[in-house]
Amino acid sequence: MAQNIAARVRSKEELRRFRMALDSSIDAVYLIDRLDMRFIDANQTATKTLGYRRDELLTLGPQDLKPDAGELERINRRFDEVVLSDSKTGMFETVHQRKDGTRLPVEVYLRAVKSEGRQILVAVVRDITSRLRAEAALRESEERFRVAFSQAAVGLAHVAPDGRWLMANQKLCEIVGYTQEELLRLKYQDLTHPEDLPADVELGRRMLAREIHEKAREKRYRHKDGHFIWVNLTSSLVWDAAGKPKYYSTVVEDISRRKRVEWELLHLANHDALTSLPNRSLLQDRLSQAIAYANRSEGQVAVLLIDLDRFKNINDSLGHDAGDAIIMEIGSRLSVNVRDGDTVARLGGDEFVVVLADVERVETIATLAQQVLESLAQPMTIQGHEFFPAGSIGISLYPKDGQDAQALLKNADTAMYRAKDAGRNNFQFYAQDMNSRALDRLKLEGGLRRALSRQEFVLHYQPQMDLATGAIVGLEALIRWQPPGQETVYPGDFIPIAEETGLIVAIGEWVLRTACAQHVAWDEAATFPHTRIGVNLSARQFKQQDIVKMVSRVLHETGCHATCLELEITESIIMENPEMAAETLHKLSDMGVHLSIDDFGTGYSSLSYLKRFPINTLKIDRSFVRDITTDSDDAAIAKAVIALAHSMKLKVIAEGVETAEQLHFLREQRCDQIQGYYLSRPLAAAEIETLLLAKRGSIQP
Ligand code: C2E
Ligand code: CA
Ligand code: CA
Repeated sequence: MAQNIAARVRSKEELRRFRMALDSSIDAVYLIDRLDMRFIDANQTATKTLGYRRDELLTLGPQDLKPDAGELERINRRFDEVVLSDSKTGMFETVHQRKDGTRLPVEVYLRAVKSEGRQILVAVVRDITSRLRAEAALRESEERFRVAFSQAAVGLAHVAPDGRWLMANQKLCEIVGYTQEELLRLKYQDLTHPEDLPADVELGRRMLAREIHEKAREKRYRHKDGHFIWVNLTSSLVWDAAGKPKYYSTVVEDISRRKRVEWELLHLANHDALTSLPNRSLLQDRLSQAIAYANRSEGQVAVLLIDLDRFKNINDSLGHDAGDAIIMEIGSRLSVNVRDGDTVARLGGDEFVVVLADVERVETIATLAQQVLESLAQPMTIQGHEFFPAGSIGISLYPKDGQDAQALLKNADTAMYRAKDAGRNNFQFYAQDMNSRALDRLKLEGGLRRALSRQEFVLHYQPQMDLATGAIVGLEALIRWQPPGQETVYPGDFIPIAEETGLIVAIGEWVLRTACAQHVAWDEAATFPHTRIGVNLSARQFKQQDIVKMVSRVLHETGCHATCLELEITESIIMENPEMAAETLHKLSDMGVHLSIDDFGTGYSSLSYLKRFPINTLKIDRSFVRDITTDSDDAAIAKAVIALAHSMKLKVIAEGVETAEQLHFLREQRCDQIQGYYLSRPLAAAEIETLLLAKRGSIQP
């Protein structure tokens, strides 16, 4: 019994401790008799939260805590579900009413237990007022963000690290012209101007490396309709809690209008209002740039200062409107005459400047100046009056006539006044010696245009000898120009101009026709049996014409066999456009025409490269042959070229052989053929006949 009592005391003590723990729980705990729907027990937290005394509460049941109609029914259903469930547990949210009538939102955990045959429900009830308040606050701030995001006056977007648009607001959609759905299917790369992409990629890299956090920049987006919009873009990278990049948060501001105004201001500051041409200040920039470029590339810059003749008269007699109209017309005439990289500027009044950047040949300047004068002289009708404007041009050259923009403009001005003194409507170079050269060039060009129709060209022929047999195996046709009453002009002095002006196409065809016809004539008379006729082709000819068609037509018309023709081309023709050259050369080769590489060694191509083309012969350039017996380098080059060419089954001919020593060396190196003064100078057809017939058998191979 004593033991019994002791056990009871102990269990009573445990019970008390348990009760204490229960009462101090932050959750309210109720025991509910399911059948009676009465509270059997409740902890202190329950009585405190509801404001009932314990004895009061134990007279009540769950229904007494329900302020709202229908809620009791719902609770009853929940109770049943719990009782019937396998786990005997359940959870729901509801509202409790305190004794004083106030309410509190709660979350209820239920467990159904059986005790002494009765169905008891243990309810653990937690006050969720603060949780709901936090949730509401969050919802509200999300809503506020959503509204702010969608209605913001600037474009806002979230962009995934790989560039996908994750979110974009209305304003951004308006800026880029896409709907939200369309935008979310794209990447920001699809919208970015290609030129701005590298900078964006670099920025992304630095943000991912955490080198920078936020960055504002100006860039261009492509609008859905294709045009580009300038935007100011501020972006920062947002990271998640695990330290992974989540998205770029970007603010996009349309600055197209600002940019346009900026450009307009810039344009106004740099251009002449009347003609829209660059003004003096932009001219100086451009000129300085051209000088800097020429400096690096060792090129030249030309400054043409153009002043209208007697413009003041027009202005005075017809008024400023007429004067303005003329100035505008002159401005546009000048613009059509220059190449893309060149500048036409208006200095003010009736003074214009043309800057020719990167001038290769001084001769082209004279041609252009002449063109400008001619285009200015075209009549124009202003206010019903017909005018024949004219101008005087002064020309200065960098680096020859001045080191900077200032000096060049000043000297062009000096030259322009000389042009006016010289009777207007002409041009003058600042450097006097240039004037005669330019004049020569113009005369030359004019003469060249007429030379074909006046039959002033002749062909000379230079024989080529086989070193093994001593036989003449070929004759190279070389053109000469014989203007009546003047000295013979050699191709070095007119072929470049013929190329520049395009005259080479007609001249080249004439050469081929004449050479082929000559060959046929010799063939019929059996003058030089088994020889080929060599004809030079220039690069421009190769580019401008369907050479294959032209050659086959001429062969057909003259009756010359394709195998009797050898076309000489330079390495540069091949290197300029290898694909096209290969195609053309193969067609010619298939026709039976022989092909040789002229001036071999002066270009940059390697023999192994040339292997891809159907070449028959290499012509070692004169410059190597000249010093072949005195310069060991040249000797080594000639030796190597011969050996390599032979390994590739190419014949080698040495050009410009003038001495017996050179011949001796070449023969030792097993060179196949020679051509040069040693054998004969190029001679007119009749002369070459007599010479070779006389020499027949006497040439010692
Ligand atoms: P090229 O094809 O290398 O012609 C050889 C040049 O060397 C010729 O000059 C010839 O007179 C010269 N020559 C020949 N043997 C010797 C020698 O032993 N010593 C020296 N010092 N020179 C020698 P040419 O006739 O003044 O021709 C110059 C260049 O003009 C030719 O060089 C060729 O590139 C071009 N050319 C000539 N005729 C034509 C043509 O009908 N059409 C084209 N497109 N170009 C041509
Ligand atoms: Ca040649
Ligand atoms: Ca040559």
